[in-house]
Amino acid sequence: MNTVCIHVYGIVQGVGFRPFTAVTAKKHNIRGTVANKGSYVEIIAQGKKNDIDTFIDTIKNSPPERSVIMGVDCTETDDAAVYDAFRITESEKEYGCIFVSPDIATCDKCREELFDKNNRRYLHPFINCTQCGPRLTILDSMPYDRVRTSMGKFPMCDKCAGEYYSPQTRRFDAQPVCCNDCGPQVYIIGEDTKGIAAISKVRRAIMEGKIAAIKGIGGFHLCCDAKNTDAVMRLRRLKDRPMKPFALMMKDMDTVRRECIIAPGQEKYLTGWQKPILLLEKRDAQTISDMIAPDNLTVGVMLPYAPVQMLLFDCPDDAMMTDCLVMTSGNARGAPICRNDEDAIKEIGSFCDIILSHNREILIRADDSVCDWFEGKPYMIRRSRGFAPLPVMVSDASDKQLVSIGGELKNSFCAAKGNMLYLSPYIGDMGDIRTLKALDSSLERMCDMLEVKPSEVVADKHPSYNTVSFAEEYSSKHGIPLVSVQHHYAHILSCMAENDCADKVIGISFDGTGYGDDGTIWGGEVFIADRHSYERAGSIKPFKQVGGDASSREGWRIALQLIRECFGDSSSEICERLNICQPDVFRVQSVMADKGINTVTSTSCGRLFDAVSAVLGVRRESTFEGEASTALMFTAQRYIRSCNAPLTFCTAVYQENGRVVLDTLSVFKDIVTRFLDGEDKGALAYLFHAALADEIAQCGDVLRRKHGLETVALSGGVFQNKLLLKLSKDKLEENGFNVLIHSLVPPNDGGIALGQAYYSV
Ligand code: ZN
Ligand code: ZN
Ligand code: FE
Repeated sequence: MNTVCIHVYGIVQGVGFRPFTAVTAKKHNIRGTVANKGSYVEIIAQGKKNDIDTFIDTIKNSPPERSVIMGVDCTETDDAAVYDAFRITESEKEYGCIFVSPDIATCDKCREELFDKNNRRYLHPFINCTQCGPRLTILDSMPYDRVRTSMGKFPMCDKCAGEYYSPQTRRFDAQPVCCNDCGPQVYIIGEDTKGIAAISKVRRAIMEGKIAAIKGIGGFHLCCDAKNTDAVMRLRRLKDRPMKPFALMMKDMDTVRRECIIAPGQEKYLTGWQKPILLLEKRDAQTISDMIAPDNLTVGVMLPYAPVQMLLFDCPDDAMMTDCLVMTSGNARGAPICRNDEDAIKEIGSFCDIILSHNREILIRADDSVCDWFEGKPYMIRRSRGFAPLPVMVSDASDKQLVSIGGELKNSFCAAKGNMLYLSPYIGDMGDIRTLKALDSSLERMCDMLEVKPSEVVADKHPSYNTVSFAEEYSSKHGIPLVSVQHHYAHILSCMAENDCADKVIGISFDGTGYGDDGTIWGGEVFIADRHSYERAGSIKPFKQVGGDASSREGWRIALQLIRECFGDSSSEICERLNICQPDVFRVQSVMADKGINTVTSTSCGRLFDAVSAVLGVRRESTFEGEASTALMFTAQRYIRSCNAPLTFCTAVYQENGRVVLDTLSVFKDIVTRFLDGEDKGALAYLFHAALADEIAQCGDVLRRKHGLETVALSGGVFQNKLLLKLSKDKLEENGFNVLIHSLVPPNDGGIALGQAYYSV
């Protein structure tokens, strides 16, 4: 008789790990206990030595599908009690590494039961099991047990309790287990309509062209028929969102295949347990409205991941339901996604005709995650539901605990405990008091849940960021020091952290705008960086950015100044010919630049893209962040697909004051000259991408000679541009570099908090 105490670390809570252990133990004649300890699962295994060994092997090698085992420790004990059976015992919290499971999309078995007339959970909008259902969004504190979730106030009926306590069922120890008799309920706000009748009513409303708000797992969605252009346009007007693409939810894979081209690997990802929005290439012949993603080559698509969404498509009533729904975040412009009825009525009530809600509380918001696809792998744009709060684990870290507040746009924060960097779900843009409040409450909840007691708070350097004032307050409230990290350096650090790289690298940080150490606007930066320091080794050629905030939306303003720089006296006429501006506007802008009124020196690569987009007549200005530059990329991609004519262009990098300058101004001048000579805008859009990639590679060569570095990290929002990413990565690899890029952490400001945390742990 032997007794072994086993500690299992990783995602082992809320994924059916304890029931799995109990079943496995019985199979191998093991007696003892299994318990959640908050930071790990503890198993006491008593039995014959051989049996214990095979038992441990099974746990290590074939754990439940949704679990992620990050470590197993075993210790023999001599003085253990004698057990007569194997039991799951009550959790008793202990301090240590904590893994909280993200929310898991409804599994196939639950889906089958949902539509099985003979099942007692037939059409139950909250069906779940140990393999699926909400996790993070309903969790109040660890360890993960029903009383500490928003299911705590729904006592199980006898039948559910029977399943919950019986190891033979799929719902053994499934915390959110419930049924039509004991579970939460869906209802229409302001009416007495409940349950399936409520879902039916929403289906009919949608098919009449109406807009519905629907409460899901991590918040509300706004929803309409994606094939009804009038409804889509109305939603655009109400949401004040003229052009920005809407995400779609499609009924099933057949529908996705009909509307989109699916690359190898994408189907598995679309149907997997995380169910993110994936950007897929549109087919030419589509049934969805052209206004879903106007002028885009791609459209964001996800499959239903919650029972209520499955019922929306497939409820057995007589409504003729569409198979493509717009599913956009239910929030007012600038505000976080609504998570309760009160917010929904107040903030999105005027955007919709009907609200379908339910009485299971959402404790932490989780927007849908958004992924692009690069070289056969996901390339994250927004990391939230299904991913957060899984930690990024790094090898090189102290045992420090801290929080980092992230950037101002696309904010997420990070709670760090030694080598575990827990990046939060997406919070939103911090220009709004409501988003700041959401940051405050989510930060507190995550720190509680993960038992992070920060001894430091890390933030950006920008003097007017709301996140920076937030961090200052947090620092004085908790009496802990505030550490500042330069924005574009934080981008590089996030890429290093994701790749678990602690070495010195050449960091290419191409981005929108951020506060530079010299008080100018940065955003096209080249660094020599390691985990704790950096040197600004180069940048794109600086230009004048005139007009404050307007200049980040209106690329024509940037174009105008670049044209002045290149063409002197004939600039006004060129601006007129290119539809940049009329001579009177030209004069005003010139005076402002010359006198330095509302003018800053900038190396923002994002703004340079906007300027080229304006010059080529692609977009003179943007109605949402990244519109002009994305449209420029699509223009280049359309060109390269239809024609492979080689382009000749000249690029140069030179050194000035010990720094490398990427001569982007010459590239710009070349593009303007050739466009005025009648060359195709698609060709020139492509040329711009290729030239920039070329200069990145040349810059890499110069710095390799100088510093002997072989690794280049590519980060910053501009690298959401897959054409630039591809061209740069290929060119660098051709030149023998090891290139680090992002995959599950966004290259944009959604990854900033991770970089900030990595700097300081
Ligand atoms: Zn399930
Ligand atoms: Zn029940
Ligand atoms: Fe940024």
